[in-house]
Amino acid sequence: MALSEIRFHSPQNLAEAFKLLGGLKEARIAAGGTDLLVDMKQGLIEARDIISLHKIEELKEIGKRDKRIRIGAMVTAQEIISSSPINQHIPALADAARSMASCQIRSMATIGGNISSAVPSADLPPALIAADATVELKCSGSSREVSLSKFFTGPRETICRTGELLTFIFVPFPPPNTGISYQKFALREANALAVASVASSLTLKDGKIDRAAIVLGAVAPTPVEALKTSEFLSGKEPSQSLLEDASLMAKEEAKPISDIRGSIWYRKELIPILTRRALTEALLQAQRKSRTRK
Ligand SMILES: Cc1cc2nc3c(=O)[nH]c(=O)nc-3n(C[C@H](O)[C@H](O)[C@H](O)COP(=O)(O)OP(=O)(O)OC[C@H]3O[C@@H](n4cnc5c(N)ncnc54)[C@H](O)[C@@H]3O)c2cc1C
Repeated sequence: MALSEIRFHSPQNLAEAFKLLGGLKEARIAAGGTDLLVDMKQGLIEARDIISLHKIEELKEIGKRDKRIRIGAMVTAQEIISSSPINQHIPALADAARSMASCQIRSMATIGGNISSAVPSADLPPALIAADATVELKCSGSSREVSLSKFFTGPRETICRTGELLTFIFVPFPPPNTGISYQKFALREANALAVASVASSLTLKDGKIDRAAIVLGAVAPTPVEALKTSEFLSGKEPSQSLLEDASLMAKEEAKPISDIRGSIWYRKELIPILTRRALTEALLQAQRKSRTRK
């Protein structure tokens, strides 16, 4: 389809956006456009109508409410990197955003687009899932809040329905003595998607691991919670050998495919290394926090 045939709509607020979405069932939503425009150019998707969210100011805010951080879907990766509440409470999310693409892409790419694209190698979802994030999905008549871990159903597939927008992401303040880490391996330092990634969260209580969460990225059709490994860690006293055992267990929970970035074997070999790094960093952060609370 020629560019001149595409109709571009710029609603000023959510009400206008939902009205447009109600009338234009086939319309595509555009946030930063860094995935959408590439897909259109490659002929992977067609769009006669594009509804851009770039003028909806309420979706560009980061705020604190009820012991949670509320991040608007139109917040960019660059804004995540420089946000004080995010750096204070969930620095791993800022690390994940910092690992994305290049400075030019980071200033356009939004958190809502990164999640909604549902690309298995996306950087923000693993860190957000490890931090127990939820997303608000809204349409003209209703809204629902779902755990981000339940949002993805396959590569480029989500539970978001026609007419719905992902409006906000909520991340709870981590419990006391919690460390969260995001580790990514890519073939270049910039402008490269993850070959594999791991996010982990560890909470310490009375010298033991009270709660562990490990999320694997780019090694399955969706981000994967390594539930068996997380369970294995819970209730145990942390040690280097425990983290080593857990890292090897996590490898068994990855279901990678081979593609241009890496083979199944290569990805499987990366998982224990990234898991060990993520657990070690999360543990150090948690121990530092427990020491400063005493
Ligand atoms: C050169 C290059 C390098 C890249 N490197 C990385 C990288 O290292 N890591 C990484 O994770 N990604 C990377 N990406 C991919 C991309 O930049 C990110 O996924 C980005 O966050 C997408 O956000 P966006 O705002 O541009 O989304 P868009 O392209 O505007 O939208 C993406 C999809 O989500 C839908 N959508 C957007 N917002 C909403 C919403 N609020 N509600 C419902 N649906 C919505 C759109 O309809 C579209 O289908 C790269 C892209 C390029 C071009």
